[in-house]
Amino acid sequence: MSGSAIAYKHSGRIGTSPLIIFFLGIPSTMILGFIYGYISVYNPMTGFFSLLLIFLFACAVGIQISLLGKIGKCRNMLFLHLSGFILGVFAVYYSWVVFLYTFANRSMDGNDVTIFWLILHPGIMWDLICAIGKEGWFEISGSKIKGGLLWAAWIGEALCIIIASTVSAIFMVKEKIFCEDCYRWCDEKDGISLEFIEDQESLDAIASGNMDIIMSLPKISATQCPQTNCEVFKCPKCSNTMGFNFRQFFQVDVRGTMTLTKKLIGHPILLEADVLEEILSKNILEEPEAGKRESTEPEEEV
Ligand SMILES: [Zn+2]
Repeated sequence: MSGSAIAYKHSGRIGTSPLIIFFLGIPSTMILGFIYGYISVYNPMTGFFSLLLIFLFACAVGIQISLLGKIGKCRNMLFLHLSGFILGVFAVYYSWVVFLYTFANRSMDGNDVTIFWLILHPGIMWDLICAIGKEGWFEISGSKIKGGLLWAAWIGEALCIIIASTVSAIFMVKEKIFCEDCYRWCDEKDGISLEFIEDQESLDAIASGNMDIIMSLPKISATQCPQTNCEVFKCPKCSNTMGFNFRQFFQVDVRGTMTLTKKLIGHPILLEADVLEEILSKNILEEPEAGKRESTEPEEEV
């Protein structure tokens, strides 16, 4: 059986994603940047809400790229990370444009500064940023934040946005499987839940496509935790591309709250249709709740 299992890897093709990311990603980043830049003027970096806002903005930029990458059928993670980095830098730049525009309109009546004019004048933007950095513009506990402290906060904010958008740009694609024959993404659906394993030797064997380990594990209830979860993926059009995503489901204590964690075991495993069905059905036969059925074979072992 092991011979028919192959680990799936993305082909590295980029599809039509460059066009889609360029024509849709830039306008949507501008919308996100506008919202973020505008809110920043009225809510300077002074607390948890601001940190949350930075994080949400950065992830929104990255996740929209991953969505556009999925629509454009991008199977190249490096290209998506690069797109996330470039649009992350653009997001920082554009949010500064909106910030300065909003700031100027709030502070000075009757000025004729426009967003378009600011975009085309990065030198003047830099002078304005330096002036604001020197004087400061908001207070925490009665003292004005300016100089090195304000610059450190700004640099931290920019790095957070760029890093988070770069990292999250593969979010919706990294665990998807693509059928190269039919040129479409596979559908995923719940498969089966098996007994939890954590010894590295068995995990390595599953990751390398050894299905004998999977066949030997008893099936458990889908709600049981921890478990070895076997999610089925199938091409909606053909029977050439199908298999399992194997994951470890377990709970981790996060600040006193038990949180479900899902960890992928190696790459997805491509299987032939009969092998996939064999795994699904064999484990059903080995289900411990034998009392509910008419027993076909006595399974008594002491
Ligand atoms: Zn297909």
